Amino acid sequence: MKGQDILSEIASTSSGEFYTPLPKGYKPGKTKYVVVTGSVISGVGKGTISSSLCKLLNDRGMKVEPIKLEAYLNVDSGTLNPFRHGEVFVLDDGSETDLDLGTYERALDKNLRGENFVTSGKIYQRIIEKERTGKYLGRDVQFIPHVTGEIKLVLRKLAMETKADVIPIEIGGTVGDYENMFALEALRELKYEEGTENVCFINITYILEPNSLGEQKSKAAQLGIKRLLAMGIQPGIIVCRSQTKLKESIREKMSLYINIAKENVFGVHDVSNIYGLPLVLRKKGFDEAVLKELKIEKKFKANGNTALKEWTKKTSMQGKAKPVLIAIAGKYTGSSDAYISILKALEHCSFKLNKPVKAKWIDTTGLEGKKDLLKKQMKGVNGVIVPGGFGTRGVEGKIAMAKYCRENNIPYLGLCLGFQIALIEFARNVLNLKDANSTEFDSKTGNPVVCLLPEQRKIEGLGGNMRLGGRDVEVIGGTIASKLHSNAKKIRRRFRHRFECNPDYIKQFEEKGIVFSGKAPKVPIMQILEMPKHKFMMATQYHPELTSRPLHPDELFLEFVKKSAE
Ligand code: GLN
Repeated sequence: MKGQDILSEIASTSSGEFYTPLPKGYKPGKTKYVVVTGSVISGVGKGTISSSLCKLLNDRGMKVEPIKLEAYLNVDSGTLNPFRHGEVFVLDDGSETDLDLGTYERALDKNLRGENFVTSGKIYQRIIEKERTGKYLGRDVQFIPHVTGEIKLVLRKLAMETKADVIPIEIGGTVGDYENMFALEALRELKYEEGTENVCFINITYILEPNSLGEQKSKAAQLGIKRLLAMGIQPGIIVCRSQTKLKESIREKMSLYINIAKENVFGVHDVSNIYGLPLVLRKKGFDEAVLKELKIEKKFKANGNTALKEWTKKTSMQGKAKPVLIAIAGKYTGSSDAYISILKALEHCSFKLNKPVKAKWIDTTGLEGKKDLLKKQMKGVNGVIVPGGFGTRGVEGKIAMAKYCRENNIPYLGLCLGFQIALIEFARNVLNLKDANSTEFDSKTGNPVVCLLPEQRKIEGLGGNMRLGGRDVEVIGGTIASKLHSNAKKIRRRFRHRFECNPDYIKQFEEKGIVFSGKAPKVPIMQILEMPKHKFMMATQYHPELTSRPLHPDELFLEFVKKSAE
């Protein structure tokens, strides 16, 4: 039976085992699905390969709508600790997602939506809601077909709404995790229902190369993928990640054990420049193989590699100069994933300026009152970023850092919390309000220069009071910010915060030299500050790093790096 027939049969059965909720008017085959799973270990670049594939398909003129299925039970990433799970990436529509969505947005150079990110928690929440409102008509609600049905529904809705040519689906975690089993089962069903030529499974696996042996070993990869086979899923393509170039013999073994053609086993060994990966994969015939599996290689032909070559050239850094050293003065410093978008934004600047940029972590937790230590840490540093953050720990160290930068004319870029820190520091040391603080850190301070705004206070008790997502920022003419944004009157940036500059202090700040060069339209909410007398002292209540793209670095980041390099 073809996908169309199977689905018609399902649609005509109102009860029974063929429960698959379908969006109205859904026709299989219009949108193709590519499922990307990982085996053996996580962290070997499943997201990078998926996003490279998105780029390759997009390059062929296809409309690509990636979706990430996360296994965890949180409804979104908003409550996750970034030092455990990586940065919380905020989309324009306010969704708080996994950092992979950032990777996709940067690769495709387009904004994604909450629909492009689904957690198990979100799926279960919908099911419980349906159950509580009697939508299952007296049936017992089961993993199969209800949970799997919900997952397929989410995918098909995305396909219909966006009219995508292809939906790459990245499954979080690795094959064998309990949490993602039912997602894999849903996708097995999807392939059965849509028809073989409409769904392609890719597995990203890892070939071990133990130091003690000095040779590549494929057993773990075979066993990892066997788990997929045992679930009834035959991958069409395998990508073998490895430290060194994949051996031909390993490719042959994988082909034999997993029953796929040798041409569909791809080797990708560690590369230093991930931006070059799409072109590397193109040359290996990777996207061609995917389209062949989906039988659309003739419909979406690659028009040469000119655009990809251009991209690779523009995203590589030829400059051999001494790197610009940027300190990131954060709370924790163990995991760079927690600040991944900041690192990417710096990288985008380095492409544009053709100058290497190096990041240095400075943990501000122990810096308070330790001038000498701070001075020592700042040796060789050309500029400082104070990133976003929550909670009291490390805050006094950050304030000390802002003071040091202001007094020593060192470029300072404050992001969200870094904006608030600049205000507190200035209030304490220039306005002479010694107890100035944010009510986040001292609810009883006599000078709450940063606080919750009245309208925010009203919803405080209700939870969900964070200002989230894309908003317009009015840029005030005649300011540095205005010049950097080519005199644009309005820009759109992303927010994730509760506290803001207290309007009662605006006048005092301005009298002593702070210029508020960006504001929220119609309300006295300050969103960009600058100190024109300083080499570069700017900060934003928004997160410019979230909208910086490889070929269009954020304007403030770019100027910050430029000034730091001087
Ligand atoms: N904690 C601050 C606030 O909630 C800053 C948040 C942030 O940096 N993302 O306003």
